[in-house]
Amino acid sequence: MPPAPRPRTTRIMVVANQKGGVGKTTSTVNLAAALAQLGQRVLVIDLDPQGNASTALNVEHRRGVPSTYDALVDGSPLQDVISVCPEVENLWVVPATIDLAGAEIELVSVVAREGRLRKAIHAHPWVGSATDVGDDRFDYVLVDCPPSLGLLTLNALVAGEEMMIPIQAEYYALEGLGQLLETVDMVRKHLNPDLAVSTILITMYDGRTRLAAGVADEVREHFGDQVLRTFIPRSVRVSEAPSYAQTVMTYDPGSPGALSYLEAAREITTRGVTL
Ligand code: ADP
Ligand code: MG
Repeated sequence: MPPAPRPRTTRIMVVANQKGGVGKTTSTVNLAAALAQLGQRVLVIDLDPQGNASTALNVEHRRGVPSTYDALVDGSPLQDVISVCPEVENLWVVPATIDLAGAEIELVSVVAREGRLRKAIHAHPWVGSATDVGDDRFDYVLVDCPPSLGLLTLNALVAGEEMMIPIQAEYYALEGLGQLLETVDMVRKHLNPDLAVSTILITMYDGRTRLAAGVADEVREHFGDQVLRTFIPRSVRVSEAPSYAQTVMTYDPGSPGALSYLEAAREITTRGVTL
């Protein structure tokens, strides 16, 4: 597989949609693995107390394991809470333990509570430009958000420059997006002017139904070029992979789901960046 060119500077992408079950976690882990296969150095930050991304990447996340919680609440350096993904080369993970469920409340009394993740990410020695960091730099930091617009997701939106919204090609796909985009506007106005909705990814697409095609058209009408050309098909192999502590990229590399994630990853490497 020919590698993709690396970006000049670490790209921090936040994968968010307050709706549950739209494919945030699935897309985060599979795009991360696909980007790594394309020669990119990738860090996944699991920001969902459920720890589904950690499970899929086969990284331990029982209570007591150094995790996102320590970075956010105790201010531990990110390098102290990173695990190496044993399945995929070039891929690192900050796992989420169930402790993170308490962080929303514990952070309320903390100074600059919405900027904790940003600070942690930018303090990592591998985050930055080719000139400052060199070849060791992370090319991508992908943040898997929980299904809410609370303080955890807010931390992610303040930390990132790019936001990816996975949209499930289903009924009510666009419901709730208004609220999400209002939150993005608010963050941009008050906390992080650099935030942009750079990428929309259509997930669980079933090409046989007219409904799916209709939803995809509607999303394109609304978001235009932000929508990746590649759709992720609904596929059993994609949903099976996490129960083997794998991404579909290693579980069944030739499957339509894996090939689509690879294609989507390639699109991401060529869009909207200075290489
Ligand atoms: P979220 O993180 O937004 O809550 P998930 O990524 O956990 O969503 O996906 C929700 C469910 O849908 C999971 O059971 C997952 O395995 C399944 N799923 C996600 N993408 C696909 C797909 N392309 N094909 C089939 N099942 C999928
Ligand atoms: Mg999830």
